[in-house]
Amino acid sequence: MKLYNTLTRTLEELKPIKRGEIGLYTCGPTVYDFAHIGNLRTYIFGDLLRRVLEYNGYQVTHAMNITDVGHLDGDNKGDADTGEDRMDKGAKREGKHPLEIARMYEEQFFKDLDALNIENAQHILRATDSIAEQIEIIKILEQKGFTYKDDAAIYFDTSKLADYGKLAGQKLEDKKVGAREEVVVDIQKKNPQDFVLWFFIAGRYKDHILKWPSPWGEGFPGWHIECSAISRKLLGQPFDIHTGGVDHIGTHHTNEIAQSEAAFGTPLANTWMHGEFLLIDSGRMGKSEGNGYILKTIIDKSYRPLDYRYFCLTAHWRTQLNFTWEALDSAHTALTRLYDFVRQAGTAGSVGNTNYEAKFLESVNENLNIPKALAIAWELVGDKTISNPEKLASLYKFDSVLGLDLNNPPAIETREIPDSIKKLAQERDEARKNKDFAKSDELRAQIEATGFLVLDTPEGQKIQNK
Ligand code: AMP
Ligand code: ZN
Repeated sequence: MKLYNTLTRTLEELKPIKRGEIGLYTCGPTVYDFAHIGNLRTYIFGDLLRRVLEYNGYQVTHAMNITDVGHLDGDNKGDADTGEDRMDKGAKREGKHPLEIARMYEEQFFKDLDALNIENAQHILRATDSIAEQIEIIKILEQKGFTYKDDAAIYFDTSKLADYGKLAGQKLEDKKVGAREEVVVDIQKKNPQDFVLWFFIAGRYKDHILKWPSPWGEGFPGWHIECSAISRKLLGQPFDIHTGGVDHIGTHHTNEIAQSEAAFGTPLANTWMHGEFLLIDSGRMGKSEGNGYILKTIIDKSYRPLDYRYFCLTAHWRTQLNFTWEALDSAHTALTRLYDFVRQAGTAGSVGNTNYEAKFLESVNENLNIPKALAIAWELVGDKTISNPEKLASLYKFDSVLGLDLNNPPAIETREIPDSIKKLAQERDEARKNKDFAKSDELRAQIEATGFLVLDTPEGQKIQNK
């Protein structure tokens, strides 16, 4: 299968390190607040990748971290070393201990993943549970001369690494200019792109609640070191594929690569894949921007979590996707139609359609072209030359990638149908009996305009919630 690799900026044939196996690492959430639906798009992308790998018969070892310390607020502006620790920010907001906040939002995060049919990574480790491993790497970097320190922190000296910044393809000079504009200068770095490995309990962080002893004194780790330590511990180094959102390319992943490669002299990961952003009203959605819808926002508006998953399937992972309620509505309608089809199609046969299955496989293996694969599933549903049992057999296979619960569709909702709608439905029944199809269509439009759906089934007309 072919995948686009940010590191080489090309589409590459996947070559696993161990035959038949893939080590996959996904940067986990910063658990100081609910995940917004943009974050969740990135986890759906990671899940689709894992499912496609498994569809191809790979045994996937999937690992993920949970960031519960050290991710500072300045990160959004490309400077990971300034600003308040997000966990502290969450803790202050809710008057709780940072770890209480962390555990609460971690639990909520896994509930969201579950609702979206995102398979859990087999290995999950919190930053606060891997402090020893992080310190070990900083010690190695120190021995090898890649660090320097002042009274605020220990830094990684990026000038010591010839190919620093190769992931983003940024020339050092460009980055210097960019960084200079953004940096809030409250720390003394030798080079603007240098980053913190270990913060001391000093200066603006003198009251930092989470702290650990280290060979350099009490402190807490910078954000990037946790992923270097956790991925190495859980998957070894190098491993096959590292995923995250595009915002991680320039700083977080660039710095993960710098630390891990400087410390151990081998690549961190062979393939780097970055999911594009979800936009809202064509702008950036972010927790810090305060416009992040969360999964609950969607559920409260009577959408299914899987409507959102379906919506994400309609765009390629390398293209931005603009969230609108209209688009979610279309996704809901399409998914409902798929459920309606599988409900009435009977039982799956033992074999599916090889022609459609070959096209589906080709699409998902061409850099995870899920929108095309979804279109092939729809083509199959509409193909009148193929029997329902054959269609179902293939659809259920496709769903092992799509993850839409097609073999377990939700029951048709039975919300009370108002009398006014019942009356329109009766009139439509009459019209159909009289073969007055123009009137029947007009009545259908009237009913559907009120948010109900008219289904003509072998047992007669049925009305349900849209
Ligand atoms: P965080 O919890 O902030 O560490 O982010 C979790 C994941 O969501 C990371 O992989 C980010 O790259 C990703 N992410 C953040 N904002 C968006 C967005 N608007 N659309 C898609 N992914 C995002
Ligand atoms: Zn990470």
